[in-house]
Amino acid sequence: MLDQKPEACQPPTANNLFLVTTHKASENLNSELRLELQTLCYHAPMTETDCLFCKILAGPAAADVVYQDNRCVAVRDINPQAPTHLLVIPREHMESLDDASQKDESLLGHLLRIGARVANLQGHDSYRSVINSGSGAGQSVFHLHVHVLAGRSMTWPPG
Ligand code: 5GP
Ligand code: ZN
Repeated sequence: MLDQKPEACQPPTANNLFLVTTHKASENLNSELRLELQTLCYHAPMTETDCLFCKILAGPAAADVVYQDNRCVAVRDINPQAPTHLLVIPREHMESLDDASQKDESLLGHLLRIGARVANLQGHDSYRSVINSGSGAGQSVFHLHVHVLAGRSMTWPPG
């Protein structure tokens, strides 16, 4: 466990989320176990209880899932702006691109690549990948996500 790299991590489970909560009350643990729990804390995605996309990721909110892996989920947008309109959502809660740091570069690349692959899987070789960052740019759900739009001609500049 101590040598596990982030890429090798499993998706969050009830178990590791439980360990995260018990970690805070673990002052009596020996140092090796404490380090192991810290490792789990680092790898367990942060979630926000009142975040719509965290609820979709956790299961209770219904969504049409077209793809998922241990880092992200792709769902159909509930209010599509093109014949194909997908949202690629990281499992880790991050409000927007503005909150991304250097450690998130691999995840950001993954979201873009998965967006391309799910567009391909839906039969598209032309598509637009969009990230709205901040309300002034049209962001309405404050959990980072990549829109993938396809199936109609697109204009530039976007509105
Ligand atoms: P934003 O405006 O933040 O860039 O994009 C948020 C997107 O989430 C919008 O396109 C909106 O239609 C979509 N959306 C909002 N609520 C839901 C929902 O409950 N389920 C799904 N699948 N999409 C949603
Ligand atoms: Zn969230």
